[in-house]
Amino acid sequence: MIVCRTKAEMRATVCDWRADRATVGLVPTMGYLHEGHLGLVRMARETADRTVASIFVNPTQFGVNEDLDTYPRDEARDLALLEQKGVDSVFLPGVEEMYRPGEPAYVDVPELSGILQGALRPCHFRGVSTVVTKLFNIVTPDLAIFGEKDYQQLTLIRQMVRDLDMPLEIRGHPTVREPDGLAMSSRNVRLRPDHRQEAVALNEALDRAVVVAKTGPSIADLETAVRSRLEGSPSATIESIDIRDADTLEEVSGTLDRRVVILLAVRYDTVLLIDQRVVAPPN
Ligand code: AMP
Repeated sequence: MIVCRTKAEMRATVCDWRADRATVGLVPTMGYLHEGHLGLVRMARETADRTVASIFVNPTQFGVNEDLDTYPRDEARDLALLEQKGVDSVFLPGVEEMYRPGEPAYVDVPELSGILQGALRPCHFRGVSTVVTKLFNIVTPDLAIFGEKDYQQLTLIRQMVRDLDMPLEIRGHPTVREPDGLAMSSRNVRLRPDHRQEAVALNEALDRAVVVAKTGPSIADLETAVRSRLEGSPSATIESIDIRDADTLEEVSGTLDRRVVILLAVRYDTVLLIDQRVVAPPN
C-alpha cells in the first residue's frame, strides 16, 4: 500500500496506474475508520482496478464551535485497516499541503448548501464541496463512493458533479449499522454509555416510519411517528426532523405520494448524531 502525504506523490502514483489503463476508485474519509468506511472501500475495490482512500480532517467544514480539535484520530490503526482491506494507496495530506494561507477559492452548491444541516452549520457544505473537488482534481478518480448516511452530502456532491461536468461517477453506499441498529459513526465513541444505549432511538424511529408509510399516511403522520419514538429517549435533544423529496431535498407536504427521505439530527449532550431513511408510498 502506497502512502502519499503530498499531492505530487498522489498524482505520480495515479499516473503510473494510468499507464496500465487501470481505473481508479476514491473513498474520501476523515479517518478513525469503522465498518461503515470499510464497506465503501469494499465497494470501490469491487468496481475499480485500483482503490485510493483519503484521510483528511478538513478544517473548512467545521464551524468555530464544532469538534475539529477533538475529532478522534488514529492514523496507525487506520493505515493497518486499509492495508488489510487491500487498498492500493492512501492519501494523507496535512492541512498545509491542502490549503495555502489566506482566502482560497471555493466551490459551492447554493441550492443545497444552505438548507437542512447547512442551515444549522453555516459554511459546512461549502467546505465539503471544496475539499471533495480538490480531492477529485488530485486523485482524478473514475468513480468516488460516499455513504448514504450523510444523505445531504451525497445529494450535494451528485449535483456538483452534474452541474460542473466533472468526469467521474458517484456511487452511494447504504448505511452500515451496529448490531443494535445505531448508524456507525466516528463520533459514537464519544457517547456516554447510557446515551449509547438510548441512541438506538434514531434507527427505531426510522423503522417506525417505514411501517407507517405502508398505511398511506400524510407527511405529518410520518413525522409524528418519528418524533414520538425519539421523545421516548429522555436524554435526546431533537435538533431536527426533516422529510424531503428523496432526489431533490425539496419540501413535501400532504399525502405521502413519492419517495421521501427522513433526515434526523439528534444530540446527546455534545454529540450530534444523524441518520436517514428513504421511504416510499404504498405500492
Ligand atoms: P467521514 O469519515 O465521517 O467523513 O465519512 C467518510 C465517508 O464514509 C462518507 O461518505 C460517509 O457518508 C461514509 N460513512 C460514514 N459512516 C458510514 C456508515 N455508518 N455507513 C455508510 N457510510 C458511512
